[in-house]
Amino acid sequence: MVRELKIHNNLSRKKETFTPIEPGKVKFYSCGPTTYDFLHIGNARALVVGDLFNRVLKAFGHEVTFVRNYTDVDDKIIARAKEVNQNAIEFAAHWVDEVKKDMDSLGMKPASHTPKVSETMPEIIEMIQDIIKNGSGYVVDGEVLFNVPSFSTYGKLSKKDLDSLQHGIRVEVESHKKNPSDFVLWKPAKEGEVFWDSPWGKGRPGWHIECSAMAKKFLGKTLDLHHGGIDLMFPHHENEIAQSEAANKCNFCNNWVHNEFLNFGTEKMSKSLGNVITIRKFVETYGGQVLRHVLLSVHYRARLEWIDEVLQRGIDEVRRIHEFAIEAKSYKAIGVGACDPEIEKCIDKMMDELSNDFNSAGALGQYFTFLRFVKNVKDNLSDASLKQVHATNAFVAEVLGLINGNPEEVLKQLQKNDQNTSDSGVDAAWIEQLIEERKLVKAAKNWVRADEIRNELTAKKIVLKDNPDGSTSWKIQG
Ligand code: AMP
Ligand code: ZN
Repeated sequence: MVRELKIHNNLSRKKETFTPIEPGKVKFYSCGPTTYDFLHIGNARALVVGDLFNRVLKAFGHEVTFVRNYTDVDDKIIARAKEVNQNAIEFAAHWVDEVKKDMDSLGMKPASHTPKVSETMPEIIEMIQDIIKNGSGYVVDGEVLFNVPSFSTYGKLSKKDLDSLQHGIRVEVESHKKNPSDFVLWKPAKEGEVFWDSPWGKGRPGWHIECSAMAKKFLGKTLDLHHGGIDLMFPHHENEIAQSEAANKCNFCNNWVHNEFLNFGTEKMSKSLGNVITIRKFVETYGGQVLRHVLLSVHYRARLEWIDEVLQRGIDEVRRIHEFAIEAKSYKAIGVGACDPEIEKCIDKMMDELSNDFNSAGALGQYFTFLRFVKNVKDNLSDASLKQVHATNAFVAEVLGLINGNPEEVLKQLQKNDQNTSDSGVDAAWIEQLIEERKLVKAAKNWVRADEIRNELTAKKIVLKDNPDGSTSWKIQG
């Protein structure tokens, strides 16, 4: 049986009862990462939130076809591959493999389909042809552009008004456009760049068309749910709608959901700002379970400020949950009897929270109430109560992924990190993290933040030494 789920739909900006086109079957697309480097923990938020939606939809009784793409054709990929003298597609494939390792460490369930742009070229070209045929695309010197004013409902997702958009964009820079807001569907390849043959010459797709084509390939013309980070709402998702609806002549997607940012300080964590912590580095220190936990301990539409207290609370909660998971395995029932109502209610309460726009934070709160209660009555459990304790833990593992299948391993990693911290009297992982961040902000010429980091460490009597080989070592001031 399918249970009712309410979702905040960004098309209407309202919480609505979720009704898939075909009852019990959900067509779900989530915009995946661009693969040219290690992902950061802001990207992890988008990945883990997509994974949450997939799991919750299934728990609510839906059969889900979940598509999450890899963007493996992109300007940044081409530029980076060139720097290391590598073929751009092979270079991106290497990073897809690295991203997969990160996803595994975050305990993500596999998607139904994970297409790459490089493997979707025929569908992309066909869709561009349909857009041109239907009067919304035009060709200028081997480049194909989308004629935005030809699509009368442009702006319906981002609530942007076409007139003000047209005036807000400078035309001189890109004078081949018929209208300032027009965007690229296909661009000619420059000398030495990766290319595909097309009716318009050798080239490659613009960024937005890939998702329209991949969604259609695996989900058909109309989707039930589409997700991405909030930064993708405009222009990416707005352009996806325009392309798909112009090509297919029908509604593209009924429900749009966007996760808020993970911020570092007051700014969005992003590679271009140089303020990133990579998933890999974080997981090496604390384990993926802590990252997953922190990311799901706030509602996906709330901003998440990455501060020490958030991390510390995450560590403490992961420890409590996994100690409890181990302890509960050894509980014994005192005899036959009914289930304690407090214990019986927990899964239902978590489902209620999740039915309210995927409120994972609320569900986690319910679980902690349950955990405290069970610990108090653990010597007095009936057989039915004990069974329900195990069922509740299994639910948290399956639907939220907040109990790891190997709790001993999770605790071991936390202990190792504690050990490193107490051996030196300082938090070595924290220092290493700041050193890594300083390296990145220096590369991005963000000297203010680089100085801030040095000062922050100096205040704790940690002295940094920049070595000739580019590495940085640290010691405690004697
Ligand atoms: P990108 O590889 O930059 O296209 O990003 C992949 C996904 O991560 C997109 O859905 C972005 O919206 C999302 N994303 C990037 N940075 C952040 C951040 N700081 N917080 C939350 N989501 C982010
Ligand atoms: Zn996309």
